[in-house]
Amino acid sequence: MSTLENNVNDMEEVQDKNKEVQDKNKEVQTMPLTAKNIGTDYSYKHQLVWPNAIGFLTIHLLGLWGLKVLLTGGVGIKTILWTFFVMYIAAEGITTGAHRYFTHRTFKATPLCRAILLTLQTLAGQNSMFVWCRDHRLHHRYSDTDGDPHNCKRGFFFCHIGWLMHKKHPLVLELGRKIDMSDMQADWMVMFQKKYYLYLYFSLSVFIPTLIPVRYFGEHWLDSLLVCYFFRYVFSLNGTWLVNSAAHLYGTRPYDQNLQPVESWFVSFMTLGEGWHNYHHAFPWDYKAAELSTLINHSATFIQFLEKIGLAYDLKTASPEVVANRIIRTGDGSHYKLGNEEARAAVTAWGPLHPLNPTYTTTLKPPDATLKPDGLTIFHEDDVLKTNESNTSKTIDAARNAKHQIKLLSS
Ligand SMILES: [Zn+2]
Ligand SMILES: [Zn+2]
Repeated sequence: MSTLENNVNDMEEVQDKNKEVQDKNKEVQTMPLTAKNIGTDYSYKHQLVWPNAIGFLTIHLLGLWGLKVLLTGGVGIKTILWTFFVMYIAAEGITTGAHRYFTHRTFKATPLCRAILLTLQTLAGQNSMFVWCRDHRLHHRYSDTDGDPHNCKRGFFFCHIGWLMHKKHPLVLELGRKIDMSDMQADWMVMFQKKYYLYLYFSLSVFIPTLIPVRYFGEHWLDSLLVCYFFRYVFSLNGTWLVNSAAHLYGTRPYDQNLQPVESWFVSFMTLGEGWHNYHHAFPWDYKAAELSTLINHSATFIQFLEKIGLAYDLKTASPEVVANRIIRTGDGSHYKLGNEEARAAVTAWGPLHPLNPTYTTTLKPPDATLKPDGLTIFHEDDVLKTNESNTSKTIDAARNAKHQIKLLSS
């Protein structure tokens, strides 16, 4: 058979598979929300926590003040370099440490490596490792439903920052108590950081980054605090939040169109490679968190470096065959190699074109996530919640009842 015929056959196969997946999607969308499945209850209104909202507004104003100081020459070049250095190592603490190592266990790490990653994650100030990973495991298990702490079905603002200034959904609280955290509980370093988090945070994230420019670069303490803490903190928080917002909303789904997360070169650029998010939710156990380690994916290179110096080992990755199979079976057809022209044409591009992610905006409709109580994978394809379904259903029922009681009390 000629290559052309082969290509035509491949394309027809991809189109058939895509239709199959779309039909399945429709079926899922019409499924009623019961204790046997989880989705988004749009009648539920999240309660605002005012102190959190005022707190976030304040740090953003101080962060902008810090940016003004930085841009108007209020601090020297050494302080600027120091700020970006701290921002970079703290970001590795989140992407390599909290995300790819502690949440998903995509590689194994020596005790020294764990200690370094925990220290860097503390520098980022995004809550203790334990809490960060619990929320992120919940996010993967119940992605884009009411069991997800930052359910993107509630809009950009909610999944970007809003979720941190609203009371958690009762399902997030209930399912959060059930999610398996035994590996973290068994790690004394993680539990030590959790216990002394506030002290560690103020010393490592606020005090030391501010002190160095005052002590060694002759900066005024206020300028140093505004740039090295507030500006750095607000900038890196928004980078991380883009993974929960933009990388769940604006882009393509070449690996699995049943999943809401998308591929976004922009988010990858802002987060050392965490924006290849459709791939990451399809293969959460892959240390690259992307099909390729070479394309705007600094954290993958960093993990390879850790392996080279003997701090990381047993790096897990999905084989090219498994990935290709998934693209053909469940992709939206926009994959740069195995997709088809029709699906690619449905993508309306803006911004610099990129072979793996041509756009933010697509005319392809996002899927409507309705999940079974055992949820999605976190560590491996075969991984499902190790509880019996009736217990999980009871939990979901109890959480829904709690929600109605809250509604009655507040009305
Ligand atoms: Zn993840
Ligand atoms: Zn996600």
